Formats: sequence, structure tokens, C-alpha cells
Amino acid sequence: MRDTIFSLVGKTALITGGSRGIGKAMAEVFAQAGAELFLCSRKEDTLRAAAAAIAEKTGARVEYLPADMARREDTDRLADEALRRMGKVDILVNNAGWNIPQAINAIRDEDWDYLVELNLTAVMRLTRAVVPPMKERRWGRIIHISSIMGRASTAKRNAYSATKAALIGMAQASALDLGPYNITVNCIAPGPIATEMPMSLLSPEQQAELGGRTALGRWGQPEEIAWPALLLASEAGRYITGEVITVDGGCLARIF
Ligand code: NAP
Repeated sequence: MRDTIFSLVGKTALITGGSRGIGKAMAEVFAQAGAELFLCSRKEDTLRAAAAAIAEKTGARVEYLPADMARREDTDRLADEALRRMGKVDILVNNAGWNIPQAINAIRDEDWDYLVELNLTAVMRLTRAVVPPMKERRWGRIIHISSIMGRASTAKRNAYSATKAALIGMAQASALDLGPYNITVNCIAPGPIATEMPMSLLSPEQQAELGGRTALGRWGQPEEIAWPALLLASEAGRYITGEVITVDGGCLARIF
């Protein structure tokens, strides 16, 4: 990968929620492509172990900072620390996110505020913080991890779908703001990917049903999001901006 148009040699990537699941898979694939990494998540033990495992497997420089993306002081600190310790951020992946399923008539204000802060406001704040030096260098890649739930929905996904759809709108607007500076902004909308988040929220029956709704008849694996992310992060994706890449095994293709 390092000798191809997918190379990330010389690039630094900041990935939120990099300790497990889709974030960790993207971190590993980016490191294999030659990137240096700065990762965050809340639990320091898991984060440290993920950073060490990726560094050992790929030889990449991997730094990390425990940070809660639902706390504004933490998003500010993350941006400052990443820029200070790495010297620059070329690629920002806004991946940390969560879902608290509640019907519209049962939404608790504190849960709504938490999901809006984590899934949407933190993405805006972190992007806003790392963009000025990207503009100076006239190179940047920003990737928001949205969801198929931002393009369609199911019962009790009000806050989740609202925030994931908002990421798509924000990516389109920022792509227009930043295009003149050679910075691309895109979303990936994953379908069912076998990670802790959906597995902890769905019953075994719901898991089987959701996998069966895809054209491929199975759940995806985290690396199946990481490879399209590498396309967007590298020179190979340099003319893609303001776009949503849906990676869902054909889930949204089905009407009945
Ligand atoms: P996951 O395996 O549960 O990983 C979530 C990651 O985010 C972990 O590293 C977690 O670490 C971190 N995180 C959670 N809350 C955080 C917070 N408040 N501050 C900082 N980090 C936080 O889930 P995943 O499936 O990989 O999810 C990654 C992204 O993909 C999310 O935005 C999710 O909405 C999106 N997505 C997933 C699916 C799917 O089917 N898996 C489908 C569509 C979209 P800590 O717990 O230690 O903080």
C-alpha cells in the first residue's frame, strides 16, 4: 500500500473512538498505509492496548489521549494535544459515536443532549479546530462516520438518525467551504458492522434479522469500513468531496 496511490506515508491521522471497532480498524489500515496516528477514546486501558498493538503490528508511531467527546473541554484538549504532539493533523476521522434508542414520546432531555453533543457538536468543534493549519498547508481529509440510519431509519432511532443525517448536511457545507483549500470532506454511512455498539443494543434475533436484510446476507466486519476510509484519506480519493459512501452490504437497496 505504501508504494501506491493509497499511500499515507508522511500523513498524520487523528481518529476519535480509535480503541476498538471501526475506529481501531481504520487506525490499523491507515498505519499499514504509512500514517502516523493520534487516537482517543474514554477508557485509557483499552486505548493504550489498542495503540500498542497497532504500533507493534505496523511499526507506526501511535500516540493517544483519553478524552470524552461529549465534553467540550476534552474536544478542545484533544485538538490542542494532537497538533502539539504530532506537529500537524492531515486526516481527521470523526468516528466516536453512540446510540441510545428511545421512541419520540420517550426521549429524555439528558440523553438527547448527550447524543447531539457526542455525535454532532463534537464533530463540528474538532473539525473547526484542526482546519486552520490544514488550510495553510492546502491539504486535508475529513471523514465523518455517519450511518445508514442517517439516510433511512427504524423505530426509536430519533436522536441517532437526526445526528447522523446532520453529519451528511454538514459534510456537504464544509466541502464547499474547504474545497478551495484542497481539503475534502466526506461521510461514510456504515450498515450493520459487528462491533460492541450494535451488539450491545440488539437481541440475537434482531441481529440475525438485520444481517439477513443485507444483499450479502451477513454483518460486515470493521475492516470493511476501513478500506473505503483509506480511499477517502489517500490521493486515490482526491476528487471525492461532499459525498456519502454507503457501505452496508446492500442493506439500503431493499424495499421489501
Ligand atoms: P464501538 O466498537 O462500540 O466503538 C466505539 C468507539 O467510540 C470506542 O472506541 C469507544 O471507546 C469510543 N467512544 C464511545 N463514546 C465515546 C465518547 N463519549 N468519547 C470518546 N470516545 C467514545 O462502535 P463502532 O460500531 O465501531 O462505532 C464507531 C462509529 O460507527 C460510531 O459513530 C457509530 O455510530 C458508527 N456506526 C456503527 C455501525 C455499526 O453497525 N457498528 C453502523 C453505522 C454507524 P470508549 O467506550 O472507551 O470511549
